[in-house]
Amino acid sequence: MYTDHSHRDEDARTSGFAIPHSRPYLGDDLEVAAREITASGMIGPGRHVERFEAEMALLHNAPGAVATNSGTSALHLALLALDLGPGDEIILPSYVCTAVLNAVRYVGAQPVLADIREDTFNIDPADVRRRITARTRAIIVPHMFGVPADVPALQEFGLPLIEDCAQSLGASIGNALTGSLGDFAVFSFYATKVITTGEGGMVLAQRPEIVERMRDLRDYDEKSDYVPRYNYHMSNLAAAIGYRQLRRLPDFVNRRRSLARLYGERLAEGSWRLPEHHVGSIFYRYVVQVDHLEETIEALAEAGIQAKRPVFEPLHHFIGGDLPVTEHVYQSALSLPLYPALTDADAEYVAMIARNLHHAGDSPKVRLEAIGAATR
Ligand SMILES: *Cc1c(COP(=O)(O)O)cnc(C)c1O
Repeated sequence: MYTDHSHRDEDARTSGFAIPHSRPYLGDDLEVAAREITASGMIGPGRHVERFEAEMALLHNAPGAVATNSGTSALHLALLALDLGPGDEIILPSYVCTAVLNAVRYVGAQPVLADIREDTFNIDPADVRRRITARTRAIIVPHMFGVPADVPALQEFGLPLIEDCAQSLGASIGNALTGSLGDFAVFSFYATKVITTGEGGMVLAQRPEIVERMRDLRDYDEKSDYVPRYNYHMSNLAAAIGYRQLRRLPDFVNRRRSLARLYGERLAEGSWRLPEHHVGSIFYRYVVQVDHLEETIEALAEAGIQAKRPVFEPLHHFIGGDLPVTEHVYQSALSLPLYPALTDADAEYVAMIARNLHHAGDSPKVRLEAIGAATR
């Protein structure tokens, strides 16, 4: 099923790696969507957007969803709907991409960075508790690398929760999907995400009037009053692709879990700290912890494998803060290629190379033991 290598994301295009860090699986979704849009004649907003929104709302038990042109704009709409601005504090983890910090800055609110738990890489409710003040107005909760964050513990604080499901579409907490527990959920459909529309996002909320507020703010045209609104809508073409991608989600999740099991078995004997197999995780990333991170990345690259830091730079490196667990994880976390388009043979190769990486004594030099013609 996943042998189509014709679609390659920006990593693959520019990397030249035999096994890129990430690659979307599109099958015939682009061709079919293009035919649907040609037939409908509506390439801008249209009924495919409404259908995609309705599917996502249904899946997450929400009264409605608002499709956007990115995950960042989806998060921005959520913060606008909460009327957040200067003087308000928003708690978020440091260990997340800068898109999340950007949205906080767009509304002029004060970001308050919290530390993470090492077993899940997710925001630590105990640390959040210490950072709550009289000005705290919301908590942003990313489910990092497809592992569900501890939403029930965070709900105890009685603050609005915005679940960031950019990496966790299809992951679950008990019987509920991530994104169906908090007051808001945001999604991204960027090229490297769980499903993709090229660029795109979605925001949903549990209160219908909030959904309508975000829907209003998303589009500027044909309004009878004036407030600054945004041009954040998703095109009909992107939505037609997204709808087809969503149909593949159960298969994608199964494939991700099966690849994670393969890595878990093959790497069990090695010296790396492997990710825990949390119930409900979709393994958006397979994040191991290693000594000598840079050298390991280089050694894997020499074998044609693109491995990466799963968070490029934690936020406290930009805006300050003392976050020991985040810092330790940042220094050691390594993301191996894991995505539905990765073949079993590719995964076996990655595992075989990984098993054969050894430190030369105390030196930080990581080298590939002689394994004959294994490199490609
Ligand atoms: C990708 C991502 C975003 C931003 O989504 P874009 O579509 O790139 O704007 C936000 N949060 C997390 C956790 C992400 O992984």
